[in-house]
Amino acid sequence: MSVLSMGLNLGLKCALVEPDKFGGTCLNRGCIQSKILVYHIDVIREAEHARKIGVKVKIEEIDWELIGKRMWVRINMNKRIESGLSKRKGLTVYRGFGEFSGEREMTVKDKDGKDLGTFKGEKFVIAVGGRSFIP
Ligand SMILES: Cc1cc2nc3c(=O)[nH]c(=O)nc-3n(C[C@H](O)[C@H](O)[C@H](O)COP(=O)(O)OP(=O)(O)OC[C@H]3O[C@@H](n4cnc5c(N)ncnc54)[C@H](O)[C@@H]3O)c2cc1C
Repeated sequence: MSVLSMGLNLGLKCALVEPDKFGGTCLNRGCIQSKILVYHIDVIREAEHARKIGVKVKIEEIDWELIGKRMWVRINMNKRIESGLSKRKGLTVYRGFGEFSGEREMTVKDKDGKDLGTFKGEKFVIAVGGRSFIP
């Protein structure tokens, strides 16, 4: 995203290809969610530890609804990213999977293989994440 912003700020014509929610694993199903959930456990642990050092704290209730809401506020940032990008001058957003189809040429398809368009580019930044490989 920061490479894209830089390119757009320089006045370059850019394309962004993303089949899923904007923000990738970290924002939508990784770091943010796990940290929000883990933080509550840390607070409970701290309270338990406090008892051992003479500070008695009683946990009355865990408000899962509020915890869920806090998490979704963060996840929904992807909508703000999407709407922000839709207003950027010089940017074409393709909502599909990109694959190289020629020299400096990319074709975008949806999950059913339907062609969503082809474009050419001088430079490509590949940031499709990774999967662990078990040899
Ligand atoms: C539960 C969990 C907790 C984590 N906690 C932490 C943490 O605390 N700290 C930390 O540093 N890391 C953490 N990570 C790891 C972190 O989320 C990833 O390292 C990071 O998101 C990788 O970023 P990325 O941009 O390389 O890939 P991703 O975030 O996976 O983004 C890749 C994007 O490429 C898109 N894409 C894939 N194929 C194509 C294609 N053909 N065409 C177009 N788009 C495509 C995907 O839809 C996706 O949006 C955690 C991960 C998980 C699962």
